Amino acid sequence: MKIHEYQAKEILRRYGVATPRGKVIEDPGEARAICEEMGGKCVVKAQIHAGGRGKGGGVKVARSLDEVRDLAGRILGMQLVTHQTGPAGQKVRRLLIEEGADIRQELYVAMVVDRVTQRVCLMASSEGGMDIEEVAAKTPEKIHKVFVDPARGLTDTEADDVARKIGIPEASVAQGRAVLQGLYRAFDETDASLAEINPLIVTGDGRVVALDAKLNFDSNALFRHP
Ligand code: ADP
Ligand code: MG
Repeated sequence: MKIHEYQAKEILRRYGVATPRGKVIEDPGEARAICEEMGGKCVVKAQIHAGGRGKGGGVKVARSLDEVRDLAGRILGMQLVTHQTGPAGQKVRRLLIEEGADIRQELYVAMVVDRVTQRVCLMASSEGGMDIEEVAAKTPEKIHKVFVDPARGLTDTEADDVARKIGIPEASVAQGRAVLQGLYRAFDETDASLAEINPLIVTGDGRVVALDAKLNFDSNALFRHP
């Protein structure tokens, strides 16, 4: 089962993962006031059950309050086509109006189930914001993996090691650890089949923030999460 980015961020926040401030709307008329509330620097993000929205025109930075209103009106209701939707695209019924982040680094972190080792695999890379499939094909050495021991969970040492390998600055490593351990616990406790933050960013002032979030759930376990 898939959920939207804003719903995945709600879950991740419960596990201590920082996200930008944001609000979901279904009426473009609400966009301006929300953006004003958040200081006037906003990103308009289409909520569909597929990634690749940025390249497909579903994520836009607004430079003014008038532009926010304008972008919201244009993106809501559009049939958004990305490389993950197929040619028919998906209709945009909700928008996330999110605070614009000051991005210093864009990183990639995700959890998946590895059937060979029968463990949850943490995958992480310094190459965030782009297609991870491309990174895997062209520069596989830039993807770091940890196969998590289910009895212990993701340890401090493992999390810190990965945080450093993907280039999180020393002063922010503790925050990186909190994100990775929070993501692992979220994955485990919600019976997820995929938990991905792409990009995880380091901001200009050294904060580690999830700028995007994707959670898919194992349908066989849905009865445990009414
Ligand atoms: P998708 O993966 O579907 O393309 P993302 O949420 O990853 O959507 O957004 C695409 C890109 O847009 C990000 O890599 C980032 O560069 C930029 N972006 C997304 N959200 C914000 C934000 N709140 N502030 C600034 N830039 C953003
Ligand atoms: Mg993304």
